[in-house]
Amino acid sequence: MADSLVGINIFTLVQAVLVCSILGAVSFKLKFVSFSGLISAFFIGVLIFVFPPEGWKWFVIILIFHVVAAQFTKFKYEIKRRKGFAQEKGGARAWPNIVANGVVATLFVVAGGFSSLGVFLFGFIGAVSTATADTLATEIGLLNKDKPRLITNLRKEVPAGTSGGISPMGEMGTLLGGLIIGISVLLLKIGNHGNEMILLATVISGLIGCTFDSFIGATIQGMFKCKICQNVTENKKHCGNKTIRVRGSSYINNNMVNLMATTVGALFAVIIFFVLAS
Ligand SMILES: [Zn+2]
Repeated sequence: MADSLVGINIFTLVQAVLVCSILGAVSFKLKFVSFSGLISAFFIGVLIFVFPPEGWKWFVIILIFHVVAAQFTKFKYEIKRRKGFAQEKGGARAWPNIVANGVVATLFVVAGGFSSLGVFLFGFIGAVSTATADTLATEIGLLNKDKPRLITNLRKEVPAGTSGGISPMGEMGTLLGGLIIGISVLLLKIGNHGNEMILLATVISGLIGCTFDSFIGATIQGMFKCKICQNVTENKKHCGNKTIRVRGSSYINNNMVNLMATTVGALFAVIIFFVLAS
């Protein structure tokens, strides 16, 4: 057992560290992630790479999420920047964002350990589908012609980019996100589940996870008002000054909402697994 460390193949671990170091360095250089984002993404990447059998395939799924998210964040970046919605630092993701989106998927991978049990795969793809669907809903939704409407009151228009706002373009983004992850799982031949079962799980869990995300965004997520420019924002600081809370809880920020949404997405994918596998 000299080639294995508590069940982890040393060769796979070396591969994982090498691949994650190279990709991490490139992502950092391209400003997809901040330094803290790089460190957290590195650990998440290595864990996902070494735990499941053929973990590199699961790793590629995470990679697809990051590449798709980065591409869509940069997509029409100039338009979004002018509208004032583009993420700060040109979309470079810091650790709270990486962890909020990745921790649930990672927990399913680690909990599944060295088994290829379908239930862990479904929890994993449910979480990743929600994260991907949510990112695409936000980025594609910002390009919607009309203003989004509040999920809790569809008659009420809200400014583009508002948490809890939904739009036809945003919903298209949601479906696309789930579809991209489902097709990727099928192309990589992860597990031996039917095509319909995988696609149904990724699209539905992405849709439910995102809808939950919007619902929390419209209700208990903290919203603040800037004293300088009078804009309503999710941030505790704006225009260099502290903002005033107008609704929701100041503990529930966007990352907390992402964490809750990926949990819900993962649980729904697990339910779909048990319903369809029986
Ligand atoms: Zn302001």
